[in-house]
Amino acid sequence: MNSPEPGTKSPRARAPGPAHDVDDALYEKSQKIYPREVHGVFATARVAAATVLLGVFYCLPWAQWNGRQAVLFDLPARKFYLFGLTLWPQDFLYLTFLLMLAAYSLFFFTALAGRLWCGYACPQTVWTESFLWIERLIEGSRQQQMKLDQSPLSLRKFRLKASKHAIWITFSLFTGFMFVSYFTPARELAVSLAAFDLGPWEWFWLGFYGFATYGNAGFMREQVCKYMCPYARFQSAMFDKDTFVISYDGKRGEPRGARRASADPRAEGLGDCINCTMCVQVCPTGIDIRKGLQYECIGCSACIDVCNDVMDKMKYPRGLIRYTTQHELDGGKTHVLRPRIIVYGVILVLLCGLFGWRLAQRLPIGLDVLHDRNQLYRETAGQIENVYLLKVINKDDAAHQYHLTVDGIDGLAFGNNVSAVHAASGAVVNFPLSLRAREEALTARSMSVRFTLTAVDDPTLTVNAEAKFLGPIP
Ligand code: SF4
Ligand code: SF4
Repeated sequence: MNSPEPGTKSPRARAPGPAHDVDDALYEKSQKIYPREVHGVFATARVAAATVLLGVFYCLPWAQWNGRQAVLFDLPARKFYLFGLTLWPQDFLYLTFLLMLAAYSLFFFTALAGRLWCGYACPQTVWTESFLWIERLIEGSRQQQMKLDQSPLSLRKFRLKASKHAIWITFSLFTGFMFVSYFTPARELAVSLAAFDLGPWEWFWLGFYGFATYGNAGFMREQVCKYMCPYARFQSAMFDKDTFVISYDGKRGEPRGARRASADPRAEGLGDCINCTMCVQVCPTGIDIRKGLQYECIGCSACIDVCNDVMDKMKYPRGLIRYTTQHELDGGKTHVLRPRIIVYGVILVLLCGLFGWRLAQRLPIGLDVLHDRNQLYRETAGQIENVYLLKVINKDDAAHQYHLTVDGIDGLAFGNNVSAVHAASGAVVNFPLSLRAREEALTARSMSVRFTLTAVDDPTLTVNAEAKFLGPIP
């Protein structure tokens, strides 16, 4: 991270002289950034990524699967629906897997190619890009926006500003609505909203998420990345000299300076940078990449695209600003395969394999058995009886009839007739059950018994649960 160039005035610089002469404020008001529109390979990739991600976010809640919303986080019922998969609180392990996968993916891709997440997939970047696009559509190019902001209030200025904010607010509220749709079915929510009949939490989250979108993407923009996002602060810990980051090739570019397109820069003692400042004008965080790697750089690649355009116009080779590594800039060789990449990669592959295997092994059926806490056992006509509370969980999309058996002691039998259990899709069926065994069949004061629950229509849906059968000392 470099300090400001010599000659530039630091915001904290103080003029010499008595304290009362100091006119530099300790707090500098943030200046609005007007990023210039850019075209190129990376800009296209960014637009494609934003389109796909926003498309998924806005469309997914409308998709149906087996008669219900395909992706729904039903918090009151404590169930997460992900297409054909229903996750229960007992499936917390899968959430842990997903979080670990997300963390290691971030480590892996950041160590490999810097802030790919920030530049292409972070919601702050994606929504800010969308808001910037709306702003350009209404207020025009960078120069037109700056001119409009500097001009006095007029009917035209009011009309343009009001239109922009009206579209931003509508878009933000729609975003808030879609966010809530992941927790309350979208179709029901739309009907309730049309009737102004949402619950208090639904109103709150719709408004809160909408307001956050409007504020963060419309006004805060780069300040979220610079001052609020913790990732910007620790990402450099994941970089090394072989990480691909967006860099300005100072050896090739310096000394920078203006020249005629036909001039030979070497003959004029100049490098390839013509000091056009286009790379600064397109930067959404307003930094100058020529000062070196800075934590404010979100890795959006806009400066690569625009500088390549400049190089084309000057008939110089592209890549004065490019994805490169510190080793390469120093004249060395880049090592893509290095210990940290291999370790992250192996952990990622293992986690993916383990996650897939656990998912494939997962059965949509659950059985919990709890021994009656009030009475250890009771004796009835030479038989010992134990009472249990059984909980059958049907995590499947279809209702099932289950067959219940028990073994572990000679002659063990049910005291009540519960060998068949019916459970609707997503239902939890609780019922008491007693087991009886002859006293002479007991070989210990506490013996293990095993319950087996099998779906009648699908024998692969089988689950076992162990419990203790208690009796007098034999
Ligand atoms: S866009 Fe390229 S040529 Fe222009 S100032 Fe930036 S680095 Fe130099
Ligand atoms: S320096 Fe370049 S890559 Fe970094 S944020 Fe600015 S435009 Fe994007």
